[in-house]
Parts: sequence; C-alpha cells; structure tokens
Amino acid sequence: MRVRFSARSDVGLRREINQDAYGAKELPQATLLIVCDGMGGHAAGEVASSLGVSTIIDTFADSAPPDDALRDSFIAANHAIYADGRGSMGTTGVAALFVDGHLHVANVGDSRAYLVREGQIEQISHDHSFVSDQVSAGLMTAEQARTSNVRNIITRALGYQPEVQVDTFSIPLRPGDTVLLSSDGMHGLIEDREIAEVSSMLPPDEATLRLVDTANARGGHDNITVVIAQVDEVDLPTDVAASAAQGPAAAPAAASAMAAPARERPLSRLGMLLAALTLVVLIGAAGFLLANPPSVSAPTTASPTPSAPPPTLTPTASTPTATLPSPVPTATP
Ligand code: CA
Repeated sequence: MRVRFSARSDVGLRREINQDAYGAKELPQATLLIVCDGMGGHAAGEVASSLGVSTIIDTFADSAPPDDALRDSFIAANHAIYADGRGSMGTTGVAALFVDGHLHVANVGDSRAYLVREGQIEQISHDHSFVSDQVSAGLMTAEQARTSNVRNIITRALGYQPEVQVDTFSIPLRPGDTVLLSSDGMHGLIEDREIAEVSSMLPPDEATLRLVDTANARGGHDNITVVIAQVDEVDLPTDVAASAAQGPAAAPAAASAMAAPARERPLSRLGMLLAALTLVVLIGAAGFLLANPPSVSAPTTASPTPSAPPPTLTPTASTPTATLPSPVPTATP
C-alpha cells in the first residue's frame, strides 16, 4: 500500500503552549499515524501528549493482529502516563494504521479519524465526550454539540486512570481514499463538509496548511493539529495476491475481488453456489419431463414446453458505489 501523508500542529491564537502532539511510524508493510491532545495544569498536558505519541510508537508491535497491536500500544501509553502523573494529566489518542489494504483506527477521547472517499466524509472514530453521549441519547443535535460550551468535557482519556478502554475500527481502503486525524482545535471550528472539500481538492501538505489557517481565521482558541494521509495504491489482500500469483487465469478473479469490499466475497460465493444448484435441479427436471412426457392427450393450443427456461445468474456482489462502507467496531474487552 502506498500512502502519502502530511502533518501540521499549531499553537493557535489564544494558548501559550501547544499541548497537542503527533507522530508517524513507517514500517516495511505498514504506516502508523497518531494524534494526541493533552490535558493537565501547567505543562502537564504537553508531557502527556508527547508521552502518549512516543509510547504508542515505541510499543506498537506489527507482528500482532492490527487491532490488538493498536489496543496494546494505547494501553501501554495509558500505563506510562498514569505512572508519571498519577491521574494529574491525560491525553486523547487517535491512531490510523494502514496495512494489508485496510485502515485500522484506535481512539480514546475526542480526537478524530475521518475517511473521505469520492468527496463524502465519514467520521470513523467515536468521540468519548459528554456532548457525544448527549447526541447518542437524543438529548442534543450534532450542531448543538459542536457549539456547546461543555463540548470539551471528555469521558475517556489516556493516563487519568490505571485502566482504559480503547475502541478500534477497521475498514477496507480504496485507491484515492483520504484519511484525516485531528484534534478538536480543528474539527471544532471546521464543519465536516468543509473538511471533505479541502482534503479532496488539495494535496496533503496544502490541505493541512489550509485547515490550520482556517481554524486560526475562526478564532484559533485551541491548539490545532491535522494529519492527512492520501492512499495512492492499495495492495491485494494476502490471500488474493497468493491466488493471483498462481497464474494469469486467476488474475480476473483477483481484480473483481479487489473492487468489492472483502467482507462481501463469502456472500458472492454463496450466491453463485445457490445459482449453480438451481441450474442442476432445473436441468434434472427438464430431463425427467423429456424421458416421461405427460400422457395428457387432449388437444390444446398451448403445447407443454419440455425445456425449462435457463435460469438467470444474478451476481450478488453489489456494485461499488460512492457510499462509504460502515466502519466495523471491534469488541473491546
Ligand atoms: Ca484541544
């Protein structure tokens, strides 16, 4: 998979220090991007966010399954920050891992991961915040949440407690997808449709600059951090790549498997199997009718047709559309 990314963090116009942090780790087969937004008196938030980013990078084990590797590195960051501050400081954390044709996201707090595909934007992470809970409960609209004066109250963070629950999500990627990570200093001031517009139109380095400038133009009351990754090329999933390598005959199958999200493939195979079974039953019935013609002798105008019409094979794989696939939340322990 080929991923180009750009990151930018700005102190904003009202704060004296930047308590946001970001980081990236490029592995032979994967790319890991992280944003943390620290909280705590004096410079503690700055310590928490940098410790969050560095611990996630240092402890990320690419030998483990992606979601487990992400979750374990977040838990390690929680331990490190808690050991240092004993609950006096904390940080949000959101990470995007690009591996094996998929995006894997982990998050704690209200920093976000978005996917922009063909101009449509979807928030992949779920905010752990008071206003997000109010929206889920139907007590507040998304717009009220965005402008609420309690919007910065988060319900989960790294480092405040000895244990933390980490959410993970995974989604198949397509070439041309854009993934965006941000702290609330950006997405609190810029609407989703504007984020989609800027990140679809501009290359990552210009888009990060434009979004930071726009947040500052709207007051810049918080630290602003944006990381944008552009997916230029997606590898075939390992099993498809293996079958494609067996010979040219396997190549069309590999190409069609790539066009549809991987999770639809078992359904397509089942559909084809059912269609084949129907065909066998119909041919059998037609053969039986030919061998044993009906003994009705009354002359009729409608002659019985011994051969059944050929069944129509309807492919069950859905045509890829511009709609974004739903992220698959992974159960957390
Ligand atoms: Ca913030």
